[in-house]
Amino acid sequence: MTNANLLARTQAVLWHPCTQMKHLEQTPPLAIARGEGPWLIDTEGRRYLDAISSWWVNLFGHANPRINAALIDQLSRIEHVMLAGCTHAPVVELSERLAALTGLGHAFYGSDGASATEIALKMSFHFWRNSGRPEKTGFISLKNGYHGETLGALSVTDVALFKDIYAPLLRHSHQATSPDARLAAPGESAHDYALRAAADLEAHLAAHAERTAAIILEPLVQGATGMAMYAPVYLQRVRELCDHYQVHLIADEIAVGFGRTGTMFACEQAGIRGDFLCLSKGLTGGYLPLSCVLTTDAVYAAFYDDATARGFLHSHSYTGNPLACRAALAVLDIFEQDGVIDANRVKAARFTALLAEVAAHPRVRNFRHVGMIWAFDVADAAPGFSDDFHRRALEQGVFLRPIGDTVYFMPPYVIEEPEMRLLAETTLACLS
Ligand SMILES: *Cc1c(COP(=O)(O)O)cnc(C)c1O
Repeated sequence: MTNANLLARTQAVLWHPCTQMKHLEQTPPLAIARGEGPWLIDTEGRRYLDAISSWWVNLFGHANPRINAALIDQLSRIEHVMLAGCTHAPVVELSERLAALTGLGHAFYGSDGASATEIALKMSFHFWRNSGRPEKTGFISLKNGYHGETLGALSVTDVALFKDIYAPLLRHSHQATSPDARLAAPGESAHDYALRAAADLEAHLAAHAERTAAIILEPLVQGATGMAMYAPVYLQRVRELCDHYQVHLIADEIAVGFGRTGTMFACEQAGIRGDFLCLSKGLTGGYLPLSCVLTTDAVYAAFYDDATARGFLHSHSYTGNPLACRAALAVLDIFEQDGVIDANRVKAARFTALLAEVAAHPRVRNFRHVGMIWAFDVADAAPGFSDDFHRRALEQGVFLRPIGDTVYFMPPYVIEEPEMRLLAETTLACLS
């Protein structure tokens, strides 16, 4: 099938996510036929480096032979069975391994990141209700936070473009000061600024903790609003405040989990644990939609009862899908067998070195990096900068999608030096 044919049919029937469809007249989507490692290949054989891991989900490349093999094996056994009234080895094994990795021993599954957010919010509220504290119904999130776009998740998301239109449909929540290190005063360190942001949170908790169920945040990196990075001490302080004020901490590691920040989970860098941990995106290596909320024995125990209504009666048709769980197990095998976290440390240092000229470019501000995420803001960005940069990078065989004036790289972990060079050179060319 030709590109043109596929594009015309796309426009006739398909409604794309996060897209004003009329803009496709100027920027048609890539017609992708297949993938190979970090590369996307279109219907005419052109290759594009997937430098943002297909919206941050892909870890070990497209058409990965090891994940493929696991799925093919699972297909011959059982593709799906409902998880109410049935159980199966892939979902049990995945839950055991995630528990061992996170210290959170009870796993509830959904399909997308947003459904994990919904599950965590409902579980926190219901925990307090089961514990004789039904007045704890409020949620806190951070300014510029992102937790998905279903109505409950959008209520705790702070992105005007996605949220303002739907404000009449949303429940109020409080947005605390973001610890984003770029907001530090001149001369103030990221660490000191993070403590100042935590003091703002404490002031809110001191007045409202009695009616607050949980705070939800993205540990270390606020992704969707432009890869804002912050000091781990913020998470330590939030953990202390949550313990002191009896408020749950929901760690939304949907984007930062599975090695993105340099440790398996971002919370490890602060030595803390949430009461709830939301995972998705990298969970299946970018293969299949699966999300998971992990929680503590204490939360689980509050629901364990003879009374049906004290249980967590939430469900999705595809909860715990065996194929998705097998993909996730294959991903965990690769992490173990290939020593991915250590190997990424070496790769990240190499790529950072290759980006020295980008970091020093006169238009580049706030060059920042953690783990396998790199970002910078572009000074004097013209209106339409993001689309323009996207188009120019494509011409050189690189798929990037800047967020506003922020360019970021979030490559699959299988990226190698020649591809890193292409990415650095393309970026320099696009900046000039
Ligand atoms: C992507 C994302 C979500 C939402 O996940 P979807 O699968 O797109 O619904 C939630 N939280 C964070 C931090 C994310 O990056």
